[in-house]
Amino acid sequence: MDILYIHPAKQEVEARYDKFRSCPPYPFIPVGVVGFVNMLRAEGYQVRGLNLPVELLQRPTFSLRQWLKSQRILPKLVLIDLHWYEHSFGAMSVAQTVKETLPDTTVVVGGLTTSYFGEEILADFDYVDYAIRGDAEEPLRQLAAQVVGKGSSQVNDIPNLIQRPGSGQRPEQNLGFYFADAATLDSLDFVSMDWLSNQRAYAALQYSGAGLMTLRKPKLLSHWLTVGRGCVFDCIYCGGGKESHSELAGRNGYVLRSPEGVVEDVARLAKEGFQQVNLSLDIATYPAKWWRAFFAQLRNDGIRIGIYNEFFQLPSNDFIDELCKTADLAHTEVAISPLSGDEEVRRKNGKFYTNERFLRMLETLKKYEVPIFIYFSLNLPGETPQTFKKTLYLADQIGKTYPHHLLRMLNPCHTLDPMSPMSRQPDSFGMNVQFTTFRDYYDYCKGTGWEPRRVVRGQHRGFEMASRPTRIVEQMAQIWDVFAQAQQFRCFPVPRGW
Ligand code: SF4
Repeated sequence: MDILYIHPAKQEVEARYDKFRSCPPYPFIPVGVVGFVNMLRAEGYQVRGLNLPVELLQRPTFSLRQWLKSQRILPKLVLIDLHWYEHSFGAMSVAQTVKETLPDTTVVVGGLTTSYFGEEILADFDYVDYAIRGDAEEPLRQLAAQVVGKGSSQVNDIPNLIQRPGSGQRPEQNLGFYFADAATLDSLDFVSMDWLSNQRAYAALQYSGAGLMTLRKPKLLSHWLTVGRGCVFDCIYCGGGKESHSELAGRNGYVLRSPEGVVEDVARLAKEGFQQVNLSLDIATYPAKWWRAFFAQLRNDGIRIGIYNEFFQLPSNDFIDELCKTADLAHTEVAISPLSGDEEVRRKNGKFYTNERFLRMLETLKKYEVPIFIYFSLNLPGETPQTFKKTLYLADQIGKTYPHHLLRMLNPCHTLDPMSPMSRQPDSFGMNVQFTTFRDYYDYCKGTGWEPRRVVRGQHRGFEMASRPTRIVEQMAQIWDVFAQAQQFRCFPVPRGW
């Protein structure tokens, strides 16, 4: 093999999920990885992929170190995603293991978290050779040519690459800049996964809905598919909003793939026996022309598959009609995040709709019997014991009106997302912020990989609302748990892990 891609767990590389009670291992691979891995393969490189948490869940004694040593041809280049901050410790643990086992191999990290903290990562973690800021396709194409030896790029000329110029000097980003446009996205293969070990188990993990998930001999398969990049919103708790994409990747709003290109990919998935496709962005917020063409072509081509879509705001009735006429509803689920029952708190956090509009929209979904997943968010700015009463009231109304077999509901705590508006301007939101550096996130992940005996919900989240100490969040969590337990639908208690 020339190149190895590894998706880290939140936990260390030797994590024993069979022995200890872990917090979520965060097994999802960022959607963009599929495109650049297939691009590198198309360039002629032998590329393999490992999803470490999936390997460890399948085989608890799996040893990355032994696996690396046992390879007949050792990779010259190892790519590790550090997109979500939850992998800050796990990604470094993988990088360290790779470097200790294969000292001559070049280790690269990339993703949104890397984009924000790239210089600090290179300054503090010797076992990472390069970091990529923003989009990775062109930087990786050139770096692979340089490292694997099939081209002649100079490392200094590679766009978006952060490197150490020399010993004692501060890491810095090369001058060249690249971001992927719509044509580039459409030219990439975001579907083929045959390079990934245990690809069917991973496809089973991606299925979202009421079906029973089995990793061995899975029957229900899904796939997260890139339908575009960026975002047009700036929800204050999110590090993947418009501003951060603009600053870290040079993107202004969405870069949309063509509906025809996405339909082609969905057709491939349906043909390969996938029951569901998870769309990487909310296509209901795309121009109506886009989703009308998308749904019409799926119907014309006779492609019927379940669709998982997360509504960033509220969809129009027209959109719901089109979705429900087209998708296989037995394998469809839509996620909606009203965040709070208090409209002011919701608006402040970036979701712009009233309870009345929200409940009316649920009536439309109910008419079609669409499975839904409702997300509140217990510890966001503005949510207090007073506003929380409105959240409970709204949750109760939903439970009383929506068919129970089609309803799931969760009210988790958020951790401070780097680059989120809340992280950048904490004073504007009445927040005290505790996580500001990569080391803060590394320590947070290292300390929260495994469930402690005593958990205070709201603790170790990197921020605290000035007038709402953590013990109040825990009190609200306990009230939610009592509410959740009394429901006949799948209403989950506030998670005790991070
Ligand atoms: S949470 Fe808000 S800002 Fe973040 S990706 Fe979703 S819609 Fe965009």
